[in-house]
Amino acid sequence: MPQNIIAANWKMNNDEYASKTLAYDFLKLLDKRNNPEVLKLLCVPFPFLSQIENMCKGNESVKIGAQNCSSFQKGAYTGEVSASMLKSLSIEYVIIGHSERRELFYEDKNTLFDKVNLAIANNITPIFCCGESLKERKVNNHLNHVLSQLKETVFNLTKNDFSKIVIAYEPIWAIGSGKTASNKDIQEMHRAIRESIKAHFGYGIANKISILYGGSVKPINAKEIFDLEDVNGGLIGGASLDSGDFFDIVNSIS
Ligand code: PEP
Repeated sequence: MPQNIIAANWKMNNDEYASKTLAYDFLKLLDKRNNPEVLKLLCVPFPFLSQIENMCKGNESVKIGAQNCSSFQKGAYTGEVSASMLKSLSIEYVIIGHSERRELFYEDKNTLFDKVNLAIANNITPIFCCGESLKERKVNNHLNHVLSQLKETVFNLTKNDFSKIVIAYEPIWAIGSGKTASNKDIQEMHRAIRESIKAHFGYGIANKISILYGGSVKPINAKEIFDLEDVNGGLIGGASLDSGDFFDIVNSIS
C-alpha cells in the first residue's frame, strides 16, 4: 500500500516569526487529533528549515521538506543549496520539478534529473512534480504530456531508486487558481501514471508508490479527492498557509 502523505508547500511566504507561528499552531492542533499513519510534510523556505525541523521533533508523523535543491553537488554556485547541505540538517524530503521552478527558473529535464539523483544519493526523498498546462489539456494531450515528463526524467532511474520517490500530479492551471481538476480527470491521470509505472518498473513498485494530487485543494474538496482510488494524498499550496485549513485537509484522508 502506498503511504498517505499530505505535504504543505509554503512557497516564498512568511517571515521567520510567522513561519514559526504557523508551525506551532498546526502542531498544537495535531496534539488534539493526529492520525500517525498519515505523513504530514511541511516544505518550508530554506532559512527556516532547521528551526521548524526542531519544533516538529516530538511528532514522528511530521517531517520537514525543502522546496528545491541544487542540481550541482557542491562548489562555486553562488546562492545554491545542495542536497548534502539539506541532509546535514536532517531534511528527509525535497520538492523537485514544481511547475513554478520549471516555468520561472527554466528547469529542464536534465536539471531535474540531476536534482533527483543528488537527492536520492543523500537519502532525501524527492517529491517529483508533473502536470500539464491548460493548452495541453484543451488539445487532449494531457496524458501524453505528463507521462512524457516522467519518461524523460524519473523513469530513467534504477528500479531501486525509483521506488524511493513520491510523485505529485499538479495540473498547472489548477495551481493557486481556485480551479481543481474534476475527480474523474484526477483519477484518470493518477491511474495512467500508476499503469505507466507498472509497465516500466513492475506491479510491486506501482502499487507502493505514493501519487499526490496538487492544485487548489481546500478543506471543502479535500476528502472527495483523497477518496479517489489512485490518490494517496496531496501537495497543498495556498491552504497550507492557514493552520486550521491545513489541519482540516490533513484530517480529510484516512
Ligand atoms: C502548489 O503550489 O503545489 C499548489 C498545489 O498550490 P495551491 O494549493 O495553492 O493550488
